Amino acid sequence: MENRVRVRFAPSPTGPLHLGGVRTALFNYLFTRKNNGTFILRIEDTDRRRFVPGAEEYIMESLEWCGMNVDEGIREGGGYGPYRQSERKDIYQKFIQDLLEKGKAYYAFDTPEELEEKRQEYASRGQTFMYNHTVRNGMINSLALTEEETRARIKKGDPYVVRFRVDPGEPVRVHDIIRGDLSFDPDTLDDKVLFKSDGLPTYHMANIVDDHLMEISHVIRGEEWLPSLPLHILLYRAFGWEPPVFAHLPLILKPDGKGKLSKRDGDRLGFPVFPLNWKTPEGEVYPGYREQGYFPEAFVNMLALLGWNPGTDQEIFSMDELIKQFSLERINKAGARFDPQKARWFNHQYLQMKTTREVAELFLPVLMEKGITADLSFVEKVVSQVRERVDFVKELWDETSFFFKAPEQYDEKVVKKRWKGDVPELMRELSEALAGTAPFDSPTLEENVKRWIEKRETGMGKVLNALRLLLVGASRGPHLFDIMEMIGKEETLKRIENGLKTLPE
Ligand code: GLU
Repeated sequence: MENRVRVRFAPSPTGPLHLGGVRTALFNYLFTRKNNGTFILRIEDTDRRRFVPGAEEYIMESLEWCGMNVDEGIREGGGYGPYRQSERKDIYQKFIQDLLEKGKAYYAFDTPEELEEKRQEYASRGQTFMYNHTVRNGMINSLALTEEETRARIKKGDPYVVRFRVDPGEPVRVHDIIRGDLSFDPDTLDDKVLFKSDGLPTYHMANIVDDHLMEISHVIRGEEWLPSLPLHILLYRAFGWEPPVFAHLPLILKPDGKGKLSKRDGDRLGFPVFPLNWKTPEGEVYPGYREQGYFPEAFVNMLALLGWNPGTDQEIFSMDELIKQFSLERINKAGARFDPQKARWFNHQYLQMKTTREVAELFLPVLMEKGITADLSFVEKVVSQVRERVDFVKELWDETSFFFKAPEQYDEKVVKKRWKGDVPELMRELSEALAGTAPFDSPTLEENVKRWIEKRETGMGKVLNALRLLLVGASRGPHLFDIMEMIGKEETLKRIENGLKTLPE
């Protein structure tokens, strides 16, 4: 039973999980699997004002999409439940009582208005009000009031909170796997609220009690929780519990400039910051990696390298390889800059690793949406022509639409440049020559057309570019003779005829 690794991902359902949240989950997951531990999903929903319907489901779906299986959680159950903090309300009572009896916590009756007044008063002197050991005796709490007064207030039903009592003293020392030995001055801490007037514990209280009761061995979480660490350590001490091991992950930074990656950066620079689409209650949709066409493997691989590195040049890792190579010691302290270009690069790599058949199968539904039904073997041929050029399956359409349907319009710039002089006449003549070409395959076509151009004593570029314009509608696309073979003689001739009819002489 000793040294069991039990690790939790403990999101608050206050909205969709963003990139940083998924990375925290991932590092917890990798660490758990590497150490044959248990991966727990705990929902920290004691702040009912910030609860967002649908967020819980979103979190679970995101983990599932990324391939992180939860061992214990609100859906999976487990021996340490319930796993939703709002359902653990009764559990916290006795621990609050314990701290009150030990004199480590106290009742405070100050109303929100009184506290606001204090804040303003301090602010007007250019100071910040902190509810701590220097002011608590002048406030309305069980340390300042007599026992009778306190009891009378509680009996009367006066609203109260319970605050943690932090006294000045020795620095709080703690070791963090990523940050090393840390030391915090307790003087900088205030007497945090542990228990709110709504009868629910605050994050700090519930988090510590649950980590203890759920026998969490390692707490792996974002850097934004580092300032709470001394308070958490003091809470463990107050309870007389052994704290878990801590690892605070580096921030994920904006692609440009300073600071933490935010949703606004995504809007501004055109990339998703959420794993899945998220629809706000107002009906606004934030884009997700899944819906943008990212493979979950590519997304996970990209995330893993935001702050962690294997110590080698290797960049492509399957989940299993990540599990094998992962260690908390190889996580950087410094923030990890997010690079949307690199995210695309990862998807490109994963697309190239698939077989042509796999890519073709993924492309079929895209074609279906365009109203096109095609043989898998034909789609495979098409895909093999252009697959290296795309980062996403959905980009295949732009690269290949002309394999499936005749151009509906012609690129104006190309028309201006290529459709002039004797070109229409040349195309008419060439069309006749093509009608007699057999077999209609790429090498034969190439030979015949080139020979025809030489005989006709005209320019190679002139003819081939104009022909491409008629077949593709633009100047792009793979090898022209491959296109002709693939669309076939009948379609080739039809497109030439069409162009001759539509384009101005
Ligand atoms: N509920 C906290 C959050 O939303 C958990 C922080 C922690 O892991 O302790 O991130």
